[in-house]
Amino acid sequence: MTKQRKLIDDIIQKNPHITAEDIFLKAKQIMPSIALGTVYRNLGIMARENEILKIPVANGADRYDKTTKPHDHALCTVCGTMKDIPETNIKELLEERLNMKISSYNLNIYFQCPKCLKEQKIKI
Ligand SMILES: [Zn+2]
Ligand SMILES: [Zn+2]
Repeated sequence: MTKQRKLIDDIIQKNPHITAEDIFLKAKQIMPSIALGTVYRNLGIMARENEILKIPVANGADRYDKTTKPHDHALCTVCGTMKDIPETNIKELLEERLNMKISSYNLNIYFQCPKCLKEQKIKI
């Protein structure tokens, strides 16, 4: 493993659901010579080799996750914090309800995180 890749991996382990750009900014603090292209290239390899999970975000930057097992996410519409949805068997639930075999699904859940809700209440 190259030291760039090790560094990117460390950053993802400490910051789950981080964007490539934020990985780059954090990496640059430790390794000033690192290029954004290097970050993207390594992320591509790591996702392909199933070391990390790439989470596409509608209308936003992709996120990178240390949990590689497929799982669902909820995105805070205010600050962009991403939260894991604990295993809820949404697929099985829908299959039962709709009486059909679901081959795959794509779920976007948006919410306001507790921190943003609290700040909103203060503003009101
Ligand atoms: Zn938030
Ligand atoms: Zn996740």
